Amino acid sequence: MVSAVPAPERSALSIAQRQFDATADALGLDDALRAVLREVKRELVVHFPVEMDDGSFRVFTGFRVQHNIARGPAKGGLRFHPAMSLDDARALAMYMTWKAAVVGLPFGGAKGGVVCEPRALSVSELERLTRRFTTEISLIIGQDRDIPAPDLGTGPQVMAWIMDTLSMHAGFSVPASVTGKPTAIGGSEGRYAATGRGLSIVTVQAMRDRGIDPSGARVAVQGFGKVGAVCADLLTAAGMTVIAVSDSSAGLHRGAGLDLAALHALKEEGGSFADYGGADRIGNDELLTLDVDLLVPAALEAQITRHNADQVRARVIAEGANAPVDPDADLVLNDRGVLILPDILVNAGGVVVSYFEWVQDIQAYFWAAGEVNSRLREVMVRSYEQVNARATAEGIPLRDSAYRIAVEKVAEATEVRGIYP
Ligand code: NAD
Repeated sequence: MVSAVPAPERSALSIAQRQFDATADALGLDDALRAVLREVKRELVVHFPVEMDDGSFRVFTGFRVQHNIARGPAKGGLRFHPAMSLDDARALAMYMTWKAAVVGLPFGGAKGGVVCEPRALSVSELERLTRRFTTEISLIIGQDRDIPAPDLGTGPQVMAWIMDTLSMHAGFSVPASVTGKPTAIGGSEGRYAATGRGLSIVTVQAMRDRGIDPSGARVAVQGFGKVGAVCADLLTAAGMTVIAVSDSSAGLHRGAGLDLAALHALKEEGGSFADYGGADRIGNDELLTLDVDLLVPAALEAQITRHNADQVRARVIAEGANAPVDPDADLVLNDRGVLILPDILVNAGGVVVSYFEWVQDIQAYFWAAGEVNSRLREVMVRSYEQVNARATAEGIPLRDSAYRIAVEKVAEATEVRGIYP
């Protein structure tokens, strides 16, 4: 069993605002602009009934939050998870604004989701839930307004139902209304692996820049979903050895390296790591504190806090998830010289290829996988180099540098547009 991680002591939004406040102080942002950027612009909460397979009805709660749209339409994932909350959606929407800005995409930030356990629903229940939720939030989403994408507990099939529902309402197909779709209906080549690919590109370059040889580096990955599983494969392809992974059921450890193909096969059959016999079983806390070169937390927020930061032994942390390291832990790890590759930069590959998907859908002209991947590499390397150069010039951690670059861009756009009326 995975051992319990202490619940976050502050709300996710207050953590996101604390990071923003520190950046606003460093940039000397004026009070009015600061007040605008530290709150979300718009939030919609919906309670809606869904018919279950046995004929009964259940009422679900969902959210869609837009933090800032000064630089373009809102963009961000939809999360289907039992612990999803409005507070999480607000914080994650704010991270999306900064993420889009730091990699230079013409988007603002949004996030949403439904409080549910998707694995406890049948496929038809999940479809009905998705279509009804889409209808409820269709008031504020759409190709030019707010474009959802996959996140925890959602994937290409859920995106296909969203696209179809919006298209049925419109009376014609609107593929650009959602990204992360199957390629059969306007999805982009390379989207599924994009977050993991972007993370591995930046991580390898950052390690080399600091004289850490990626080849032979030992890696632990928390979470084995769309981000974690792809990271495990691509970091292995870059010469690293993945010695530990976890999912929500268990952690696995094998000092000589795990058999990733066997773990993928297990997942494809619907199994969980608790069913796997080919490695030692470890707890979630233990995975985070293993003696590794690289730790990739790719599951949930607030996994490394002041409770466990001083036990983390990794030399480099690449934040596959959003906000897996909280600001208290950040201070401890920075003091100890641990290199943290911040979420808004290192896991931005997904939104970069979502942007490519949106552009391809609008143009109705599609690119080959090689073109998508090489454009992704170009954006990730350029963004990393900008963040790294500012961090070096100002003597600050990469997270502070990424935040300064992002907040400056959003502040400039908000200011130059002016306050209506
Ligand atoms: P996913 O649902 O595909 O996978 C999540 C994985 O985490 C699963 O393997 C699940 O079993 C595991 N998990 C859940 N709780 C866990 C726990 N307590 N300990 C260990 N493992 C646990 O989701 P995903 O799309 O891979 O997203 C993972 C994280 O990355 C989320 O925080 C998400 O917001 C973030 N993210 C995702 C994308 C994307 O493109 N999908 C982009 C940027 C950031």
